[in-house]
Amino acid sequence: MSDVVVVGSGPNGLAAAVVLARAGLEATVLEGQATPGGGVRTLPLSTEAVPESLGLLRDVCAAVPAAAPTSPFFAEFDLAARGVELITPEVSYAQPLDGGRAGVAYRDLERTVDRLWTDGPRWRRLLGPLTTYSSEVAVIALSDKRSLPTGHPVRLARAATAFGASTGLLAGGWGDGYWRTEEARALIGGVAAHTISRLPSLAAAGTASYLGALAHTPQGWPLVRGGIGALTRALVADLEAHGGRVITDHPVRSPKDLPPARVHMLDMHARVAAGLLAEPYRSRLTSLPLGGGVCKVDFVLSGAVPWADPEVGRAGTVHVGGSVAQMRRAESEVAAGRHADAPVVLVSDPAQHDATRLGRDGLRPVWSYAHVPTGSTLDVRAAVEQQIERFAPGFRDLVVDALVTPAARMADHNAAYPGGDIAGGMVSMWRMVARPRLARDPYAVAPGVYLCSQSTPPGPGVHGMAGLHAARRVLRTEFGMRQIPSLDP
Ligand SMILES: Cc1cc2nc3c(=O)[nH]c(=O)nc-3n(C[C@H](O)[C@H](O)[C@H](O)COP(=O)(O)OP(=O)(O)OC[C@H]3O[C@@H](n4cnc5c(N)ncnc54)[C@H](O)[C@@H]3O)c2cc1C
Repeated sequence: MSDVVVVGSGPNGLAAAVVLARAGLEATVLEGQATPGGGVRTLPLSTEAVPESLGLLRDVCAAVPAAAPTSPFFAEFDLAARGVELITPEVSYAQPLDGGRAGVAYRDLERTVDRLWTDGPRWRRLLGPLTTYSSEVAVIALSDKRSLPTGHPVRLARAATAFGASTGLLAGGWGDGYWRTEEARALIGGVAAHTISRLPSLAAAGTASYLGALAHTPQGWPLVRGGIGALTRALVADLEAHGGRVITDHPVRSPKDLPPARVHMLDMHARVAAGLLAEPYRSRLTSLPLGGGVCKVDFVLSGAVPWADPEVGRAGTVHVGGSVAQMRRAESEVAAGRHADAPVVLVSDPAQHDATRLGRDGLRPVWSYAHVPTGSTLDVRAAVEQQIERFAPGFRDLVVDALVTPAARMADHNAAYPGGDIAGGMVSMWRMVARPRLARDPYAVAPGVYLCSQSTPPGPGVHGMAGLHAARRVLRTEFGMRQIPSLDP
């Protein structure tokens, strides 16, 4: 019998397993899919028109691990020492606007300020303090929302003050009255839209403050050379080096699929995990509402996306949604269960920054996803193409083919994304704390059973911190160990 069985090999499940294996426990990870990694996988990209032999790869879910460099888990795990190369685009993110204009967030804060013209000083005032204390902002944002974050108390206090001020300002309508230009307003609005929810909101403002701060750090919003799957390979290698193992093609659909263990940890959506539990534990997990949905569209292009403003092409991530008013309208439609005619779309063209992503014949993968109602069965490729074409005339002529995964099919390749909810449940300020429910220990969900996925604090993103927080509790409560093992390579 294993000490611990972890169900799910996403970054949180693997982070938990790595910590426990390093503590000397026998940790086994069961993964329902044929490949480990969950939201952090890079797989061959092929379509009817594009055979696998052309050598293209796609990041199946996440492509831009913005939270990883400042995540306390990954910082100590030290990806670079394990041969994982994070690429830092000169432009972290961009927001094209009609008429060939664009907001551009350079990694360099002062360059961003210069380009934002009359709004430059306002951008510096808002993002400057957050950037100065970005490590502490990350520690606060990625905490378990139960214990006091550790670090230098004065720096933590300054980070909390900057975070509170920025969140307050942006929650009041993205600081509509604060900005003079649509470039600045929409630039920060595009980051807020990551929450996939009605806008503006406190959670969207908090997300914009946190991710906005990370954009101007030395590593910005990075890509991973060769694809994000390198992170998973590094985690699995470390787990195996410490006696753990990952068993793939092992879906756990009912309690009888679970081998006996002293502790079970579930790297699953709270609502899916609920199916493995008896009452009263089950209904405690189903109270977490589903979050918004996404439809993934992986394009194969014959050239770089021809953005009307070439600076947009230097960005690792492009938020396609137009002005704040347009994004607000689109997100309201989606929240009301309707498809937006002009949806918010996220786009990344990794070959712009990483030549290893070019396939034969100059073909390249372009990663994108659109916000859609949860459970949507619609193929929204046409709407996504229209949105990109609007800001990159000639885009359509470069499209060779596309692989589309409607929201309702997202769970086919990751059971943790029911209905295309990629965030493990609704993202709101309340639900960042009461995730999956309001409890002193949000990870312990039944006797001997712990939830360790993005359905627990700190919520979505590639940071491994839910796994670390849950593993810390398992070590202390179930095995009487108070010391977290070193994660050094
Ligand atoms: C299209 C898309 C784009 C994204 N883009 C980004 C991005 O750019 N940057 C970013 O930071 N985040 C992004 N994310 C979110 C990110 O992928 C997740 O926040 C992260 O992967 C969550 O990690 P996790 O370990 O909690 O869960 P997951 O990574 O979802 O892993 C859960 C694992 O559990 C397995 N599993 C679930 N149920 C069972 C079961 N019953 N039996 C066996 N196995 C099971 C799944 O197969 C999966 O491997 C994106 C997600 C998607 C889908």
